[in-house]
Amino acid sequence: MINNIKNYISGNTGFLIRLDDIAENMNWDLMDKTTELFDKFKIKPVLGIIPNNNDPELLLYPKKNINFWEQVRTWKKKGWEIAMHGNNHIYDKFCSKTDYLGLGGNSEFCSHTYEKQLEKIKSGLYKFKSEDLDIRVFFAPNHTFDDNTLVALKECGITEIIDGYGLMPYEENGIKFIPQLFYKMIVFPFGIQTFQIHLNYFKHDDFDNFKKFIELNSQKIITYDQAISKINNNFLSKMSRIITKKILQIKRLN
Ligand SMILES: [Zn+2]
Repeated sequence: MINNIKNYISGNTGFLIRLDDIAENMNWDLMDKTTELFDKFKIKPVLGIIPNNNDPELLLYPKKNINFWEQVRTWKKKGWEIAMHGNNHIYDKFCSKTDYLGLGGNSEFCSHTYEKQLEKIKSGLYKFKSEDLDIRVFFAPNHTFDDNTLVALKECGITEIIDGYGLMPYEENGIKFIPQLFYKMIVFPFGIQTFQIHLNYFKHDDFDNFKKFIELNSQKIITYDQAISKINNNFLSKMSRIITKKILQIKRLN
């Protein structure tokens, strides 16, 4: 009995690493160090690539003297998951909790018309396609998207999103969600958790702490395929969504 419970917990516990804001302009020094670290521990993260980055804040970061898209294909060949992180990453709308997750805030997608959102998603996917990259998963800048985003994504054949509440991946409205809860590395003893990493915002000893986390937990770090295979709509999964939603809507922890 105890062994059954132990097996159930270990079979349903894992960390997925999601690197956000991957674009031609970014903190390449840390990206190179992170790549070395991932290679050493055979970690296969998800890279949130901004296909047509035009965010004025992100454009302040340096470019590297390489063919960016060639680099993306190299990452993909290593088994890293290439996800679409918005289209241009420009926050031209503000939503006051009218977004799908009820968090509110600046948005590239939420509150735009369906047609506009479809155009954005098509434009992003077109960029990937022209670079010979197939995309199956999306996540919106600042977690803000709405029902129209989901319809537009499905129209373009994208049915997977890394965001949402809970401790297990789940399916809702024809979309598979892999939850992403915290900015900080808060480790629950159970569940599939996505860690959202912004190398651009790393300060002081953030990289050393991240490195220590990887060294300690490399055995528990899973791939995107492993995460998506854990889709679960059972009672425990639903309860964990309700509870984490309450917590995060009170204050998105950061
Ligand atoms: Zn972003």
